[in-house]
Amino acid sequence: MRSFDYLEPGSVEEACGLLRQHRGEARVYAGGAHLTILMKQGLYRPRVLVNIKKIAGLREIRFDAESGLVIGALVTHREIETSAVVRRHFPVLAEAEREVANIRVRNVGTVGGNLASGEPLTDLSQIFIALEGRVEIAGPGGMRAIPVEELFVDFYQTSLQEDEILTKVVLPPPPARSGVCYVRFSSSSVVDKPSVGVAVRIRLQADRDACADARVVLGCVGPVPSRARGAEALLAGKEFSQELAERAGEAASRECSPVGDLRGSEEYKRAMVRTLVRRAAAKAWEQALGAA
Ligand SMILES: Cc1cc2nc3c(=O)[nH]c(=O)nc-3n(C[C@H](O)[C@H](O)[C@H](O)COP(=O)(O)OP(=O)(O)OC[C@H]3O[C@@H](n4cnc5c(N)ncnc54)[C@H](O)[C@@H]3O)c2cc1C
Repeated sequence: MRSFDYLEPGSVEEACGLLRQHRGEARVYAGGAHLTILMKQGLYRPRVLVNIKKIAGLREIRFDAESGLVIGALVTHREIETSAVVRRHFPVLAEAEREVANIRVRNVGTVGGNLASGEPLTDLSQIFIALEGRVEIAGPGGMRAIPVEELFVDFYQTSLQEDEILTKVVLPPPPARSGVCYVRFSSSSVVDKPSVGVAVRIRLQADRDACADARVVLGCVGPVPSRARGAEALLAGKEFSQELAERAGEAASRECSPVGDLRGSEEYKRAMVRTLVRRAAAKAWEQALGAA
C-alpha cells in the first residue's frame, strides 16, 4: 500500500476544505471497512486520508414527528441495528441490519460509507429509497439535500463531488396506512453481501383498502438501486390479492436489467426479483392494513 498523509479535521467545514485542497488525491475515511480493502488491493491509491470520525454531530440518531428519522453519516450498522429509536419508528431498518455483513463490519462500517462507496451489492439504499429518504451533503459552497436515489450514478460512482461529505440520511415520518418490507437473499451465506435485495412500500388509500401508491425498489441487480416503476403502476389503485403480488413480481422481473456477478447470473437474479417482489409486496400490504 502506498504511504499517505492522515488528517483529522474537527469540523465538516474543515474536512471539505481539506478535500478541496487535496482534490484528486484525497479520500474521506470513516469506518474504513470498504476503503482499506480497496487500498490494500491497490484499486484506490490516495495520497491523503481525511478521517472524519472526530467530527462532532455526525453520530446522532433521532426522530421527531416533523423531520422523521435522522441518521448521522458516522452512525454504524450496529448502532442502527440496536437503536431503540430505529426499532420503534422504522423496525424494517433494524431488522435488515441484522443481516448486513458480519458483526466485525457492522461494528465499524458507517451508513455514510455504505452509501458513499456506491457499492452495488448492499442493502440500505433500497430501503431508504422505498421510504423516500434523502441525504444531506456538505460542500465548500454549503449544504444540499437530494433524494437517496439521485446519489447513485454507476458502479462505485456517486454524485458526490470530491470535496463533499455526506452528513446525514433523513427518512420522513411513515405515512398513515403504510407498510414497508425488505427481503434479501444471499446465495452463499446469510452474512454475505446480498445477491438481490428488494424493498416494497405500500400506502393505502384513506377510505379503502386499495393501494394509493407503491414503491418497489430493486438492489444488486444493476450498477445502482432502481425503482421498478411498471410494478409500482400495476399495484396502484388495486386491492390486494396473491395474484396481484405475483403479477407485480413478474413485471419487476421483466423490467429490471440484472448484471450477472459472482452471486448470481442474470437469469437467476431475474427469478429472485420475481419471488422477492411478490413476498415483499404481500408483507408490506399486510402491515399497511394493520397500521393506523
Ligand atoms: C466483508 C464485507 C461484507 C459486507 N456486506 C454487506 C452487506 O451485506 N450489506 C451491505 O449493505 N453492505 C455490506 N458491506 C459494505 C459495508 O456496509 C460498507 O463497506 C461499510 O458500511 C462502509 O462504511 P465505512 O464507514 O467503513 O466506509 P469507508 O470504508 O470508510 O468509506 C467507503 C467509501 O465512502 C467514502 N466515504 C465514507 N464516508 C463518507 C462520507 N460521510 N461522505 C463522503 N464520502 C464518504 C470513502 O471515501 C470511501 O470511498 C460489506 C462490506 C464488507 C467488507
